[in-house]
Amino acid sequence: MVMGEIPEEVDLAVVGGGVGGYIAAIRGAELGMRVALVEKEKLGGHCLNYACIPSKTLIHISDIYYDALHSERFGISTGSISIDPKRMYDWRMSVSKKLEDGVAFLCKSNQIDVFKGTGTFISKSSIQISDGVELKFKKAVIATGSTPTVLNGFGINGKDIMDYKQALMLDYIPKSIAIIGAGYVAVEIGTLYAKLGSAVSIIARSDVLSKFDREAVSIIKKRMAALGIKIYANAEAKSYENKALKLGDGTQITAELVVVAIGLVPYTDALGLENAGVKTDGKGFITVDRRLCTSADNIFAVGDVIGEPLLAHKAMRQGVVAAEAAYGKDVAYDNLVVPAVIFSDPEIAIAGSIENLDGITVKKFPLSALGRGIALGETEGFAKIAYDADNVVKGVELVSPDANAMIAEAALAIEMGSTLEDIADTIHPHPTFSESIQEVAEAALGRPIHFFYGAFGGKTP
Ligand SMILES: Cc1cc2nc3c(=O)[nH]c(=O)nc-3n(C[C@H](O)[C@H](O)[C@H](O)COP(=O)(O)OP(=O)(O)OC[C@H]3O[C@@H](n4cnc5c(N)ncnc54)[C@H](O)[C@@H]3O)c2cc1C
Repeated sequence: MVMGEIPEEVDLAVVGGGVGGYIAAIRGAELGMRVALVEKEKLGGHCLNYACIPSKTLIHISDIYYDALHSERFGISTGSISIDPKRMYDWRMSVSKKLEDGVAFLCKSNQIDVFKGTGTFISKSSIQISDGVELKFKKAVIATGSTPTVLNGFGINGKDIMDYKQALMLDYIPKSIAIIGAGYVAVEIGTLYAKLGSAVSIIARSDVLSKFDREAVSIIKKRMAALGIKIYANAEAKSYENKALKLGDGTQITAELVVVAIGLVPYTDALGLENAGVKTDGKGFITVDRRLCTSADNIFAVGDVIGEPLLAHKAMRQGVVAAEAAYGKDVAYDNLVVPAVIFSDPEIAIAGSIENLDGITVKKFPLSALGRGIALGETEGFAKIAYDADNVVKGVELVSPDANAMIAEAALAIEMGSTLEDIADTIHPHPTFSESIQEVAEAALGRPIHFFYGAFGGKTP
């Protein structure tokens, strides 16, 4: 236990101190509940220590390095530039530590009792913590997250076969990396190491980002090819020996390092769910109702452990809802959209759906017609908007620099039931990539400004 006395019984016990868990704990404390938080590793969980924050920290560093080497077209010649991977590693680790310490500070400030150890339910009202403490509770929130899917024949050894956590903690830049898996984690890790100088291969069972809009993905693939990333589509990794990765068709790829990134599975090891009457589905995700309540009426669950989408901001929102529901507020997790961002080059960001469904129209505006895009030499990308017969916005997709920040506007628009007119008539700052959202809304209304659709027979090019 980190602080305070061992409480006889808490109002709210939270198991898992990741973004879902620590936010549930803080919200519970704000509501006046006595809260205990149990974490077996590091406060901040995977997001702050091993996943979102470290990957975006390293992506930022790789962008600076790569741009410094490739800005001749703007008249910038840099001469010799080098990168010190040990200092890069130190920065990456210091960022996580700072955030972890920040979470500890917030817990202390909110008088949350933090227990270090593995929490196991021994009943519907008590948790055994690995250091021997038994914690009694009225309500509980489970926020134990997910863990990387294992691949038979590719045991993680932390040396030349790694999972995503280890691949984001290197203090050297590998000469060659083969990434097994082709989701957003593989694309982000592959792109960042390619920018740092590694020869990167991606082994895709079907294709990279197979669940995403092919038009968006084709732009990303073009950029990946320019970085020298080799994509082996419809391929299967069979074995790895003496720095050679063998595929099903006999192809051999030289790789100093293999990274297994084939997905995530819910993490409920040692939780003792059966002792508390908490049920899971066929895939091992904990099942919950709209209030995020599990099959045990005093136990709630949030984040990756309850299923897709496995995203930090979804876990954060659910943390707030679960704490309020546990307190007794009449709340539900009923968000219309969970925006998603792939930090590829350029970024892809999506809110809602841009599928061509019945009654839905999709319009596109290209970055090649945007002042900001031309100024930065970033003209390969677009904004797409999907809307219904009443012009209500149903989805937005951006392939663009700054897409990560811009997609929040789209999420808000959809949550508020905004129409095309709401977006088109809102003044967007100039010159920014955010204007692409306004431009595409104007185009959808039949009054485009900076792109002449007539040149394409009035159609979206
Ligand atoms: C490489 C990578 C990059 C990502 N990037 C992004 C991104 O940019 N944006 C985004 O939104 N999402 C991203 N994600 C997904 C994001 O990391 C997860 O969705 C998020 O961490 C889920 O939060 P959580 O609170 O559910 O679980 P976690 O963050 O996994 O936290 C769970 C915590 O519970 C603890 N725990 C587990 N069992 C017990 C127990 N029995 N007792 C005590 N403690 C326990 C664990 O130690 C852990 O700290 C990324 C994922 C990966 C793999």
